[in-house]
Amino acid sequence: MKKCFGLLFLIWMTLVPITAHAQIVDTEKIYTYESLTEDMLLLSELYPDLITYKSLTTTPFGRNVWAIKVGNGEKVILMNGAHHAREWLTSALLMKMIETYADSYIDVKTVEDIHPSILDNVSIWFVPMVNPDGVTLQQFGLNAYPIGLHPFLIEMNKGSWNFTRWKANLLGIDLNRQYPANWSHLKGVNGNPSYQFYKGTRALETDEVRSLVDFTYEIKPEVAVSYHSSGNIIFWGFNQWGLTHTTKFSQDYFAIAEQVSSFTGYPIDEPESYQQGGGFTDWFIEEFGKPAFTVEIGQLIEDSSLPLEEFHDIWIRNKKMGLFLAEKVYERKRKMD
Ligand SMILES: [Zn+2]
Repeated sequence: MKKCFGLLFLIWMTLVPITAHAQIVDTEKIYTYESLTEDMLLLSELYPDLITYKSLTTTPFGRNVWAIKVGNGEKVILMNGAHHAREWLTSALLMKMIETYADSYIDVKTVEDIHPSILDNVSIWFVPMVNPDGVTLQQFGLNAYPIGLHPFLIEMNKGSWNFTRWKANLLGIDLNRQYPANWSHLKGVNGNPSYQFYKGTRALETDEVRSLVDFTYEIKPEVAVSYHSSGNIIFWGFNQWGLTHTTKFSQDYFAIAEQVSSFTGYPIDEPESYQQGGGFTDWFIEEFGKPAFTVEIGQLIEDSSLPLEEFHDIWIRNKKMGLFLAEKVYERKRKMD
């Protein structure tokens, strides 16, 4: 009998490495900073030749803004999420992409119609949670922070103890109104630290945004996507819309946006007039002259995070986004070589 168990154990040991691993990124629960950190460590252990990570900065409350790279290609694209606290489903989406792409690469299987071997030519850098302090406040409320801070947080939250609508970082600065793109002319913004819309006293004032800007200069992406929620829509950048019909250069880029629109089912729109600049996408387009999109996932919902039940639909629409853009970058590089 003992021998039999020994044999079974041996068979089990040989089979384990070739069977698919258990799913790591759990999108059926509230996706926290701790979940993200734990999943990132597990995934980088599981795929050491494909996944690496680094901290861009430590926030004022001791959390890391993680950047996670998938692939070994020379050319780079950048995808980020959760600039806004209540939009943390974007972090879960990006982490699920990381796991799916790495998994498919190792198993040599396609993600929809795209083969992940494109990651040998183009790497994807993910910054899935730009605002971990804000996300933590939105998810756990005041309990997540020292009692001495509570009066300040409640004041910025307009007297409310319910933090589910929180967008800013812990200092009450809106991280997507912090980029030096038309920053000084941003209209309709709160004049004081607040749960939303306060642009700060100067551009790049926050550690989170300054470190992401430095990192973007360092890696020089060919394309960037900034995920937000909600609205099921793609914004194409504040000063790019008028250019699309006038220059061949922009037309090429617009063609990419149209394809993204076609497979996600999200229409393309221009940003609202009240937010003309200040965002990551605006800054990236202006600074690098390369395509960037703001993708708003999920059905329009006011002042809250998206319900977890929406994740399935969001995943179906966005699953191949990173690999698709990687492929476009590679096609363009080959044309130009
Ligand atoms: Zn947002």
